[in-house]
Amino acid sequence: MSAATPSPMNPEHPQRIAILGSTGSIGVSTLDVVARHPERFSVQALSAHRRMADLAAQCRRFKPAAVAVPDEQRAREWRELMGDDAKGIQLLVGDGSLEQIASASEVDAVMAAIVGAAGLGPCLAAARAGKKLMLANKEALVVGGALFMNAVREGGATLLPIDSEHSAIFQCLPEDRTSWAARIDHIVLTASGGPFRSRDPQTLQQVTPEEAVAHPNWVMGRKISVDSATMMNKALEVIEARWLFDLQPDQIRVVIHPQSIIHSMVVCRDASVLAQLGTPDMRVPIAFGLSFPHRIESGASRLDFTSLKALTFESPDTRRFPGLGLAYDALAGPQGCSAVLNAANEEAVQAFLDRRIPFTAIHEVNVGTVHALAGRWAAPSELADLLDLDARARATAQGEIARRGG
Ligand code: NAD
Ligand code: MG
Repeated sequence: MSAATPSPMNPEHPQRIAILGSTGSIGVSTLDVVARHPERFSVQALSAHRRMADLAAQCRRFKPAAVAVPDEQRAREWRELMGDDAKGIQLLVGDGSLEQIASASEVDAVMAAIVGAAGLGPCLAAARAGKKLMLANKEALVVGGALFMNAVREGGATLLPIDSEHSAIFQCLPEDRTSWAARIDHIVLTASGGPFRSRDPQTLQQVTPEEAVAHPNWVMGRKISVDSATMMNKALEVIEARWLFDLQPDQIRVVIHPQSIIHSMVVCRDASVLAQLGTPDMRVPIAFGLSFPHRIESGASRLDFTSLKALTFESPDTRRFPGLGLAYDALAGPQGCSAVLNAANEEAVQAFLDRRIPFTAIHEVNVGTVHALAGRWAAPSELADLLDLDARARATAQGEIARRGG
């Protein structure tokens, strides 16, 4: 990567951004916001796991100094697609390349937009290098927990939530986080209820991957879309909120709000409620993360209050969404519980998308895996221990999937 001397907080010098997972839903939305402000941001590095044609198109348009791909086959594909345009772009391949990008001295800010626990290593690298870390990759924090937050503190990183609910909470709080504990009674995470909010639970056994990924309000990657349909997404977000805002589990509540207009709320000690509202468009929290502590144009449309119909709220139906309770069970145990739950869920969702198990078996696999490993996890304090536990949980989950015919 070439050296330059811009400062992240000085608008006269563009902030140099690395986007990990640039071809995904969050990655593409991030580039959309970045492209609206060429004077503020420059794209320093991009990474993608598959879809080399999309990555090549992004490279031609944004001219990053570096790109990272997972293996030699993808590297060859990218080189062929790029031809002479590859000149001047450093290609990093395989193990360690995401960590290298995330901690490079030429990078001011990292957008963590990888899906799954695979993003934990690069997030830790960015945190330890003291970067501005914009976190969409909730699984990394669910798995890393205290280890992740310690890396942020010790590295002097600035951690900015991108998940819309957590961005909403963050936007409702003052910048000085030392005042948060005295101010917050509890927080309320809103959830749309996904595509099966009012579907007869008896029929959930038969739903297809296509139905499950058809979210009513948001366009997202396939994994998070399935998580929204099971409400495991909200379960992961409860764990994410515990770490981001240093809350006790009983301070984190969930309410179904089908319109996705209120993105979450802080209920203060004096009973006052602060909420953040807007159209459901991830470019809003992304723009907030990119420009924090300022505000910039995001490209999202404005709320039109006169055409808004009712904003409604209901309690989550635990019969339809049994996964939500798993978050509170996990938070009652050591960090290993959250790591195991996340790994089981990643494997179960993939098995459902591959049509190996029915939709309702996702929860069964999650519960089966957590029970199978209960008491056999320590409180992992190193990345290597967590990755080891993650691998064991995936193997156990695969056994659970196979037992259900997958
Ligand atoms: P996506 O599937 O659309 O994109 C994932 C990106 O990560 C792609 O660029 C892919 O190439 C890369 N990737 C996938 N597996 C990888 C691996 N093993 N190693 C390295 N890179 C890998 O996902 P998304 O919807 O953009 O979500 C990304 C993250 O943001 C998830 O953690 C999700 O929960 C979170 N998030 C997404 C949204 C949304 O609206 N999409 C909202 C809130 C939070
Ligand atoms: Mg969310």
